[in-house]
Amino acid sequence: MELNFENSFAKELKDFYEFTKADKSTSPKLIKFNESLAKELGPEWENLKSDYGLLIFSGNVVPKGSQPLSQAYSGHQFGGFSPLLGDGRAILLGEVIDKDNIRRDIQLKGSGRTIFSRGGDGKSSLGPVLREYLISEAMHSLNIPTTRALAAVSSGDDVLREKVLPGGILTRVASSHIRVGTFQYASTTGDLEKIRALSDYSINRHYKNISQKKEKYIDFFEAVCESQLNLVSKWMGIGFIHGVMNTDNMTISGETIDYGPCAFMDRYDPNTFFSSIDTQGRYAYLNQPLILLWNLARFAETLIPLIDKNEQNSINILTQKLSLIQGRYENAWLKVMSEKIGITVIQDGDLKLINDLLDIMKNEKADFTLVFRYLADFIIGKEDLLLSLFENSKKINEWIINWKNRIEKEGKFDKSLCTMMKKINPLYIPRNHLVEYALDEALLEENYKPFYNLLSHVTNPFDEISSSEDYTLPAPITDKPYKTFCGT
Ligand code: AMP
Ligand code: MG
Repeated sequence: MELNFENSFAKELKDFYEFTKADKSTSPKLIKFNESLAKELGPEWENLKSDYGLLIFSGNVVPKGSQPLSQAYSGHQFGGFSPLLGDGRAILLGEVIDKDNIRRDIQLKGSGRTIFSRGGDGKSSLGPVLREYLISEAMHSLNIPTTRALAAVSSGDDVLREKVLPGGILTRVASSHIRVGTFQYASTTGDLEKIRALSDYSINRHYKNISQKKEKYIDFFEAVCESQLNLVSKWMGIGFIHGVMNTDNMTISGETIDYGPCAFMDRYDPNTFFSSIDTQGRYAYLNQPLILLWNLARFAETLIPLIDKNEQNSINILTQKLSLIQGRYENAWLKVMSEKIGITVIQDGDLKLINDLLDIMKNEKADFTLVFRYLADFIIGKEDLLLSLFENSKKINEWIINWKNRIEKEGKFDKSLCTMMKKINPLYIPRNHLVEYALDEALLEENYKPFYNLLSHVTNPFDEISSSEDYTLPAPITDKPYKTFCGT
């Protein structure tokens, strides 16, 4: 069966890529294939758990209809602007229209050098491939918009980092790979028609409902802001720290992208960050909304020539729109957090109730994930679970009285509330020590069992699985802080 690739990006945005071929893999092995995602893509994709699939996912065969290319983009990295980044280790095979009629990119990541590779080798080691597979699929299961992982392959080739590591390739699926950085790239050309072409393509692909609007570029800006602020508010609700919120890692679609140094926070501390290269904590948990705003301001700058012929008018309009984002973000965040504690209709006082809880959690360094999960259990009489997370139970007990009173203003403090809360508050997340263990076993021992086991838990995050207590607990406290590294 043919894969029916389409190549609209190649056709419509000729100034934004170079055609590129993947390197061949010496002795590829399929480590994991995502059957449920393949189902979404269509029956011909389901057949790819096969030797033919491996040929494609390893870069050894270019499937019929595909026009592989690497995309150009710029980006602010840790606040500094790089005019030319681009896909240095990724190629887009093409697009597929899925069973819901949505156009999705199929990309190989780690498949060799491209013209954007600069000093890099264009490769990925297997560790970061498995890490992205685990965490992006966990995010999807947590109902957070994200790029997906279709296949993880070991290439059989060595990759040289600080030491020699096994190479890997991830097949990534995204609703597109257009980033704020892609707009910055268009902007660096100074060519209005390029900015317009990229905007029109993005509107058609992601925000079709505004394509006929009179002020469609203003609406486009607002729509991207809305998608992104919703996304970041959802990250905050599950304790996700992206780790590298550079403008080249921020999609126009509103999907989470780039799982290099990301990690989930365990004990609640709003200043948490894990990335080894983020020495100042620029991308710490609590800074994420501020960085979101900063990145959206960079996005706004790229649209100035499109909004109005008079530059000052454009700036005024975009500045006014930007000034509303923080309030909109705060509302989105309040909604996310209210739902986590069982509140559906927000009232005065709810913000304080949530902040009071977060303060107690912070003082006690309570586990972010388990507090919310065990609040649900508290309702059905399993009070010890929650109380075990706090050394000093006085404060949390006082808070619970306020919480119960608040819930009873609106509804019932009963089993159905518990059930509802358990659909929102996960029990299984990719905890750092579990991810590290799974990757160590895979890489050092070629034992993939812990990886598969962890994957099956984090892709089923809300329903309790029997005999799985080890998957719920935070890591024991050690002197050595957890650090993550960019996924190259
Ligand atoms: P990232 O940190 O993944 O957002 O990547 C930032 C930039 O570095 C992008 O342009 C990547 O394509 C590029 N890059 C990262 N790793 C490699 C590599 N191993 N070889 C070539 N380019 C790379
Ligand atoms: Mg990136």
